[in-house]
Amino acid sequence: MALGFPGFRSGAGGPGRISPVMCEHCGTDRHLDIKAVTDLPDHPADVVVASYTCGRCGLFSEHPARVADLSMVLGRREQTGDLLIFGWHYLHCGELMKKTGSELRRLSASVSSDSAPGDTRDVYLSTRVLKCRCGFRLEVPE
Ligand SMILES: [Zn+2]
Ligand SMILES: [Zn+2]
Repeated sequence: MALGFPGFRSGAGGPGRISPVMCEHCGTDRHLDIKAVTDLPDHPADVVVASYTCGRCGLFSEHPARVADLSMVLGRREQTGDLLIFGWHYLHCGELMKKTGSELRRLSASVSSDSAPGDTRDVYLSTRVLKCRCGFRLEVPE
């Protein structure tokens, strides 16, 4: 009789299903420990794959999620302003910041004593340039 029940959630979610970031067992996001946030190709910037475990019951979940949901959970934990950093991912305005390119930063380093005076060596540091739709820009070492 329970089969075909309206609203019954069948299976473990088809592709593209975006679920709230919460423990389905406990029905709350209060105990979540976010393990990973991954880009989801061919999806809008505000959809990522979230992997997390619930610290209370130990349930592991991994599914497409909205960054807004995720930043609510992350933000509650360690609020540092608009920018949320998670591993290699930077979230701003509720979206995963997009890499817009790489830049080579030239650092002129003075070479010490033995070389000719005035001899400087250029050191190049490559950085990732990340941009948010609001115009916020961030450069991080590659
Ligand atoms: Zn739980
Ligand atoms: Zn922003």
